[in-house]
Amino acid sequence: MTITARNNSRERPDHGSRGVTVLGSTGSIGINTLDVLGRHPERYRIMALTANTQVDRLFDQCQQFLPQKAVMLDPSAATRLKEKFRHEGLEIDVLSGVDGLNTVATHPRSHIVVAAIVGAAGLLPTLNAVRTGKRVLLANKESLVMSGHVFIEEAQRCGAELLPVDSEHNAIFQCMPDGFRAGTAASSVRRIFLTCSGGPFRELSPESLVSVTPEQACAHPNWVMGRKISVDSATLMNKGLEMIEACWLFGVSPDQIEIVIHPQSVVHSLVEYIDGSVLAQLGNPDMRTPIAHALAWPERIESGVKSLNLFEVARLDFESPDLNRFPCLRLAYEAARGGGTMPAILNAANEIAVQAFLDRRIGFTDIPFIIEHTLSKIPSTRDIRLESVLSDDIRARELAVNFIASHEPIVGLRAT
Ligand code: NAD
Ligand code: MG
Repeated sequence: MTITARNNSRERPDHGSRGVTVLGSTGSIGINTLDVLGRHPERYRIMALTANTQVDRLFDQCQQFLPQKAVMLDPSAATRLKEKFRHEGLEIDVLSGVDGLNTVATHPRSHIVVAAIVGAAGLLPTLNAVRTGKRVLLANKESLVMSGHVFIEEAQRCGAELLPVDSEHNAIFQCMPDGFRAGTAASSVRRIFLTCSGGPFRELSPESLVSVTPEQACAHPNWVMGRKISVDSATLMNKGLEMIEACWLFGVSPDQIEIVIHPQSVVHSLVEYIDGSVLAQLGNPDMRTPIAHALAWPERIESGVKSLNLFEVARLDFESPDLNRFPCLRLAYEAARGGGTMPAILNAANEIAVQAFLDRRIGFTDIPFIIEHTLSKIPSTRDIRLESVLSDDIRARELAVNFIASHEPIVGLRAT
């Protein structure tokens, strides 16, 4: 559906700058991306902004950045946005639904697509951007976890530039040898250390974990993020998803990746070479650094991030993760080693379980229990075709939903 508002009275700057589409502009990554883009109006022109249902926030962003198109996933939200544009005299096309997302992700005037939708919903628009050979700034790790093989193959076939925005992966990318392209393997790299803050419950006992609330889970010590990734950070599933993401981006096996708990979140990850050298990327924990890096690569641009004060940081600690207290990480390694559609099943069950936890229908320690149950019920397959991934994604969601419904209320199920 396309609806057009009329009489835009303001001018859009368009002097040879690169067109940018931000998928999921109203989220945490989207807002940080606009902050960086807003510092470089001569360099970047916003082609399209998209959101799920947040009309007021998308309207404010459109008023400030004057994109050509705005997409709301929800059609009724799209109608409300169009009314607001008409009222203000803003001439911005409003599209809706998945078709709208695909249109702006593949539009010839979008040179750069920032994939910042959360969850599996980001897969198809991101993949379509890859298939049109764009520079794709990948924040949506779930799409790579689900179908990394397809993504990498399509990126290579279509000449897309896949640049990681996840801070750890961006750090690893920065530590890779000259000329490295995402999706290839660097033979001089021996190991990758993927750092992890440990989340808000790093020091909590197993008994206390049973009763933690969504508010506590979303209060991350070092990063302000969307609710889903905040819960993933608290269960350490985020690190599990990132380990799988790293396997695809850097052509390594799960056993070449070591997860290191680093509570200060200053070392964003490290790469070990065969000669024993270990390179790290450091910086303040602020997503504008990896976003600015990926936007401008191989150049560098100002991001608004303040300088790192090593005297304030004073010390850097490293510990190994406790897989017994945080079983999601173990499950992610199992899925990564299993391959095929297992990572997609893991991801789908996790999305359902996290939403149920945020809705207070299950407890925190039930999350890994539901994922493990779902993985055990769907036979693993080596099949990596997109159709198989998408159909196992649906199966896993149905299974997890039914499992939760048949056990409600299951707060603390694992402990009983
Ligand atoms: P968020 O919840 O803050 O924002 C999500 C965005 O996606 C919003 O704009 C929302 O409107 C949109 N959206 C949600 N559901 C949608 C759907 N079904 N269809 C279309 N649009 C939809 O999430 P976030 O924290 O910005 O994270 C976005 C992605 O980036 C996630 O995959 C996350 O894992 C990854 N990531 C985030 C951070 C961070 O610091 N926030 C860091 C690294 C990676
Ligand atoms: Mg990360």
